[in-house]
Amino acid sequence: MVANLQQLQALDAAHHIHPFNDNADLVKKGTRILTRGEGCHVWDAQGNKLLDAFAGLWCVNVGYGRKSIAAAAAKQMEQLAFYNSFFQCTTEPTVHLAAKLAALAPADLNHVFFTNSGSEGNDTVLRMVRHFWAVQDKPEKNIIIGRYNGYHGSTVAGASMGGMKSMHAQGGLPIPDIHHIEPPFFFEDGGEHSEQEYGLLAAQRLEAKILELGPDRVAAFIGEPIMGAIGVYIPPRSYWPEIERICRKYDVLLVSDEVICGYGRTGEWFGADYFGFTPDIMTTAKGLTSGYIPMGAVIFNERVARVLRDKGGELTHGYTYSGHPVCAVVALENIRILEEEKILENCRENTGPYLAQRWQELAEHPLVGEARIAGMLGALELVPDKSARRFFEDRGKVGALCRTMALGNGLILRATNDSMLLSPPLVITRKEIDELFDKTWMSLDETAKAIA
Ligand SMILES: *Cc1c(COP(=O)(O)O)cnc(C)c1O
Repeated sequence: MVANLQQLQALDAAHHIHPFNDNADLVKKGTRILTRGEGCHVWDAQGNKLLDAFAGLWCVNVGYGRKSIAAAAAKQMEQLAFYNSFFQCTTEPTVHLAAKLAALAPADLNHVFFTNSGSEGNDTVLRMVRHFWAVQDKPEKNIIIGRYNGYHGSTVAGASMGGMKSMHAQGGLPIPDIHHIEPPFFFEDGGEHSEQEYGLLAAQRLEAKILELGPDRVAAFIGEPIMGAIGVYIPPRSYWPEIERICRKYDVLLVSDEVICGYGRTGEWFGADYFGFTPDIMTTAKGLTSGYIPMGAVIFNERVARVLRDKGGELTHGYTYSGHPVCAVVALENIRILEEEKILENCRENTGPYLAQRWQELAEHPLVGEARIAGMLGALELVPDKSARRFFEDRGKVGALCRTMALGNGLILRATNDSMLLSPPLVITRKEIDELFDKTWMSLDETAKAIA
């Protein structure tokens, strides 16, 4: 219990504009202030212990309280707190991290550009992709296709390529030459098709859009392997290989936004590995440092990197903290932990299947229309009527209620619309998975009772 909690909340209300919040509402209710984390649990200022089934914000993959990460950061700060990577300079850990990411990334994605976040990474993507075509005498090949309800971050380029209408409404987005297609969401949109049939049809929307715009106008397609923020939409297996085929056919660059899926979330290093496709470019962040410090990395294949290097001239793009040495040692230690503790193998072979089994059991609850999960990324679709694939009329109310009930039961789940989202630290144990199940079931019961 923090002694001055009310005072803190008053200061917060007076001075702190929160991202992704209804700030008027927040001022009335008072902010929840988190004070400590250990493994899969966090504590708030009132002393409540909460199972964090959302890993901070899809990012704390190795769990909270890793002393070796803190030690690595402290050591680097003492030795060389900062130096930039502009003007033919860099630092030792930055180089080691670039080489490590090149080794982990699929196929010939061997070239890394560092950023501070996923949003910045996608700004980098937009500029690099357009530059790539422009220096090959195709400046008109500049359109980027994303998906409605996709999330690619909150900067101007990220929010433009993303397809959140509520975000477009603030700030005059999207910027020109960004187009969107409908996302693959079988639960809502699958109709009478089989999942695999539907995956192909949903991917072919990309082909139709490319033909409508003209292949010589389309620079790239960007998508999250699994769409996170909108509600963990897991596409059918047939979707991504078909997207890849279409991109190759029309020479459209394929960008995989791996900000959530990267670094083990699905049990594989990247979502592209999970679905078996090879992008030209990947945006990564979040799990790169397990959220211990901000850092992102955009990873390019040989073709794109070579054109940019050999024909691109001086790159007039970069961030002061691109490749920050303290962030780099944190990322390296985070990856060392993922490898040494065999966390991905454990997710694939042990805890992941167990989590999937228990998560599927939740589908038996009367309020749950679908339980979807891939690796350690899942959602429950709350519905008014189990026998039909449809949503509540006042979408979002029941999800928010369930989230509140979960907090009351010591569990953090996120809600988007009426999807309850799951993304725990990858180190979650079988015992904690049982705790997750019990608390989720109880919260579903309470929610059902409250709306009955
Ligand atoms: C979180 C997220 C981003 C943005 O990353 P930030 O670090 O918040 O800027 C981009 N893409 C996806 C898929 C994300 O989930």
